[in-house]
Amino acid sequence: MNNNNFATGLKCIICDKTYPPEHLYVCPSCGIQGILDVQYEYEKINSLITPEIISSRPLNHWRYREFLPISQSATLPQLHVGWTPVYDVPRLAKEVGVKKLFLKDDGRNPTNSFKDRASAVGVLKAIEFGFDTVAAASTGNAASSLAGLAASIGLQSYIFVPQRAPEPKVTQLLIFGATVLRVKGSYENAFDLCWEACEKFRWYNRSSGTNPYLVEGKKTAGHEIAEQFTGTGGTLNGGKMPNWVVVSVGDGCTVGGVGKGLQEMKLAGLIDRVPRLLGVQAEGAQPILEAFYSETDLVPSETNTLADSIAVGTPRNWRRAIQQIKLSIGEMIAVSDEEIFDAMRTTARLGGVFGEPAGVTGVAGAKKAVERGIIKPNETVLSVITGNGLKDIQTAMKAAGKEMSIEPNLRSLEDVIPKQSHVVV
Ligand SMILES: *Cc1c(COP(=O)(O)O)cnc(C)c1O
Repeated sequence: MNNNNFATGLKCIICDKTYPPEHLYVCPSCGIQGILDVQYEYEKINSLITPEIISSRPLNHWRYREFLPISQSATLPQLHVGWTPVYDVPRLAKEVGVKKLFLKDDGRNPTNSFKDRASAVGVLKAIEFGFDTVAAASTGNAASSLAGLAASIGLQSYIFVPQRAPEPKVTQLLIFGATVLRVKGSYENAFDLCWEACEKFRWYNRSSGTNPYLVEGKKTAGHEIAEQFTGTGGTLNGGKMPNWVVVSVGDGCTVGGVGKGLQEMKLAGLIDRVPRLLGVQAEGAQPILEAFYSETDLVPSETNTLADSIAVGTPRNWRRAIQQIKLSIGEMIAVSDEEIFDAMRTTARLGGVFGEPAGVTGVAGAKKAVERGIIKPNETVLSVITGNGLKDIQTAMKAAGKEMSIEPNLRSLEDVIPKQSHVVV
């Protein structure tokens, strides 16, 4: 055991070269494309954990800590990360066109997005490597999540946001005490500047596209899905895994992490089958989908979508995303902003969950995949809601429609409500 954890090395996903699990962002030979994948002593982990041991632990994402690259004796952040609820939503299932649909609401994390799973691991690695400051370039959620987790554990944070980051997300950064730098330019410009600043000022770079440890935190959603469906007491879907797990895709870390987490649960013998992954991009930013189907290297694209969290034209983690989707015999699909708006309404009205645009992109993708015959009507689907709807009020209001304005009397009310609901007493 290395550093009091089960990680054995960092393996480049291009050249397969392995490095010790120390402070390193990308493969020194392959450069920025050389994403590193954390390797573990799986035999040892698998001999140590059983469903009973896991089920005796607190209900949060540290319950799978042997699978995380953190010191097994680290002081954990207090904020509650993970173990987000899964809902069975029959009326939304009907709308999407499948037998059964489940939503896993990751908007319930401490800063209201899936990114908290990664940031929680990130701040522990920063402390372990002796940093007192963390930094990130982000379209929003990665940053607000880092700022929140850093505040909870006493680290300083510097955040580089692109020009178009929505105000509510920037507000979240400021209230957590982050130093916020709005970079006059694109996400890519912000990313590059953050990278240079981290080198120069010795800050720990949280950008999960390139930091190998961050994406490991995202695996816990895969671990949880396995346990919530099939573990001790897992009764959803009759104790069987869903046929599909649907995830929205920007940089590619989320789908890559969820996929790796599910594979680990299979390797540990805790599930017998990994669901097929459906990776969903916005039509206005779909470079990973294009690389997936053309079997070529990624070509950076323009971005034109209101789903700001997945508006990524130069994704860093596309190889890992494609690898995991292929490993699961999965598929990819792209949806329009109109379809995303529609999913915002239907997910809220038929499922009771308010997701941000990228948060419900999976639901829109599932519906389209049924129409295209990729998902069959008799299959079961879990869609991860990756961020809460209040994260981006401006866009939510476009989807929600307008309220009615009335005088403070019943006549005025009767004029606007449907006639059939008038009950005469
Ligand atoms: C970051 C994010 C995604 C996509 O994750 P990637 O790792 O960039 O693919 C999806 N939804 C929300 C709400 C996000 O914040």
